[in-house]
Amino acid sequence: MFPKTGRPVDEVLEELEARKANDVDWRGGKVFSLAYDAGDEIHDLAVEASSRYLSTNALNPMAFPSIGRMQSEVVGMMADLLNGGPEASGFMTTGGTESILMAVKAAKMRFKAERRITAPEMVLPTTAHAAFTKGAEYFGVRAIRVPVGDDYRADPDAMAAAINDNTVLVVASAPQYPQGVIDPVEAIAALAEERGINCHVDGCMGGVTLPMLERLGYPIPPFDFRVPGVTSMSVDLHKYGYTAKGASVILHRNKVLRKYQTFTTDDWLGGFYASSGVLGTKSGGPIAGAWAVLQHVGEEGYLRLTKAARTAAEELVAGLRAEPGVEVLGEPEATLVAFTVTDADTFAVGNALFARGWFCDQQGPPPSLHCTVNAVHAEKGSIAGFLEALRESLAEVREAATKGEQAPYASLE
Ligand SMILES: *Cc1c(COP(=O)(O)O)cnc(C)c1O
Repeated sequence: MFPKTGRPVDEVLEELEARKANDVDWRGGKVFSLAYDAGDEIHDLAVEASSRYLSTNALNPMAFPSIGRMQSEVVGMMADLLNGGPEASGFMTTGGTESILMAVKAAKMRFKAERRITAPEMVLPTTAHAAFTKGAEYFGVRAIRVPVGDDYRADPDAMAAAINDNTVLVVASAPQYPQGVIDPVEAIAALAEERGINCHVDGCMGGVTLPMLERLGYPIPPFDFRVPGVTSMSVDLHKYGYTAKGASVILHRNKVLRKYQTFTTDDWLGGFYASSGVLGTKSGGPIAGAWAVLQHVGEEGYLRLTKAARTAAEELVAGLRAEPGVEVLGEPEATLVAFTVTDADTFAVGNALFARGWFCDQQGPPPSLHCTVNAVHAEKGSIAGFLEALRESLAEVREAATKGEQAPYASLE
């Protein structure tokens, strides 16, 4: 019901706090999904910086040059990190989904203009993020999903076989979300280059992490604009950039490719109207938050946070591999780890973990639990406790199964 009379500020804020009671405790180190945390200082800065610009409007950088400048500096920082060179250009978006939507839209518009393709298709591995399918639905692009190899990496030969004259886009992920492995970007980008079509590398998870792992000496295959044929990349700052939610970057190799993402019209009585992404009115908050956190953390800080997250991920993988009946999927190359249970219901184990306060994504096929390991897990020393809770959960689910009890299953509610 619409409130008839207003309520005091204190009372409203108190209720907001109270309503968090049943949410996951994402800063406590027991949540392996959805949220990222690099400690109080970075968190407080992100909150403070974004709140100072929350009600400004990024729709018009002429009115808010401060936001225009922060956006182009953030895009420039990411272009630098991903070796885009002086030609690379892009925009900030509100998240990985919007960045990916824009990559799909740009590919469709480019080949409508350049080749008069009216029934566009894109070819992508089964492991590419659901946002590509969303883009396909929104923009009328047919999505052709191609099975991946036994190592969960994309299969470039199978992708090549799915390409035809209507194909406008091929996709690689670095790393892909479900098993955390890096697709063979060079081979996939080569398919695009040969045919003069677009190749998007989804670096939503890896766009900050992989450049840091590379600097730390980890063997990371080429995945960014150094690879010929890559035309665009997405990277989420609200994930491993540890900034406030609502911040991602879409980068194009050059301005010519970028122009196909933007929208302009004067076909209404409100005059010339232009926007870079899906939104019209758009908060300047996440842009300011991202700019501030990148400035504060810097390469030194991201090296430290990445090392911490990767080390925790390695500890998790080693612990899972030592656990009978547990199988790690693929060879996790960054900070995402998925595992399955071979002798009990995997999702029942996930629910038993949740009952103990530990939250992982439940995914499939194959039925598996997914852990997004980040700095908070290193900071809180979470891995040992997680493995202990996993052992208890496995025992509980195995015992229930021998007793013939119905195991709890994942729910939509
Ligand atoms: C998170 C993610 C996305 C989608 O990003 P949102 O910020 O959730 O919209 C896309 N691709 C990958 C690999 C991701 O991890």
